[in-house]
Amino acid sequence: MVVISSEVNILRVIDIHIHLAPPEVISPGLLAVLKRFGGLDPDFYTSITKNPEFFVKYMDENNIHAVCIMSYPAPDVMGWGDDFVDFVMNYSKNYPDRLLPFGSVHPRFSENPVPRLEELLSKYDMRGIKLHPVHQLFKPNDYRPEERGLKSLEKIYEFAVENDLPVLFHTGTSMFPRARNKYGDPIFLDDVAVDFPRMKIIMSHGGRPIWMQTAFFLLRRHKNIFLDISGIPPRRLLTYFPRFVEIADRALFGSDWPGPGVKSIDYNVKEFLSLPIPENIKKKVLFENAQKLLGIK
Ligand SMILES: [Zn+2]
Repeated sequence: MVVISSEVNILRVIDIHIHLAPPEVISPGLLAVLKRFGGLDPDFYTSITKNPEFFVKYMDENNIHAVCIMSYPAPDVMGWGDDFVDFVMNYSKNYPDRLLPFGSVHPRFSENPVPRLEELLSKYDMRGIKLHPVHQLFKPNDYRPEERGLKSLEKIYEFAVENDLPVLFHTGTSMFPRARNKYGDPIFLDDVAVDFPRMKIIMSHGGRPIWMQTAFFLLRRHKNIFLDISGIPPRRLLTYFPRFVEIADRALFGSDWPGPGVKSIDYNVKEFLSLPIPENIKKKVLFENAQKLLGIK
């Protein structure tokens, strides 16, 4: 149970970045890895992937108001396709205020991504778009003529702007065997922020563990870039971002649960609350910034 510090009166938390994979995707081997590296309880995880009600109960017990659930197709690298996205959309359906699904199309495999994006939006009320350059093997600025001229990427961004959907990019490394880490450099978001000034860009993991300086530079340069702190152990946040407080108005709490090393969402909230930063900033990062960005009442 998260103990909420009384002097700041934090009542609610929004976790901008968690993952839930369909039961058929979670092999016993994967569960064992997550248990070994993050202390994940495999029974708890299996039960909540089968029943969103259990998950919402856990959220209630821990003052977690809402979670954004990531999904994206990456058939060649990760072995899952659009069915993963549909799973997350269906999973979230009955709890539109609490479970906020982020969907995706594959920028390299869909010439015209718009019909699918429209489907995700109208059928399921998708709340944001997730793109994973390191698992989908593209650079976020690949739409540019001097890069790959990848038109589908431009269409995805235009759709996001038209529908006021934030676009969340994985930045930083990935240990999965077929990941290509060169795509994890956040510098490619510089072009995106310049060319799509109205797009809300969420830069996940702050380029951890290699590109934090680039990430910080981008946050200072572009007012439409937000930092999702997931993937950074909260107790090490100020080591990675010593000037965190300067960009805290655009920082969002995220856990990346049940990723390797993440025990539970409430554990990360507790760790974040113990950081030596002003209480009003904690409140912004844990709730208010995401509330504003996602339009949550
Ligand atoms: Zn993630």
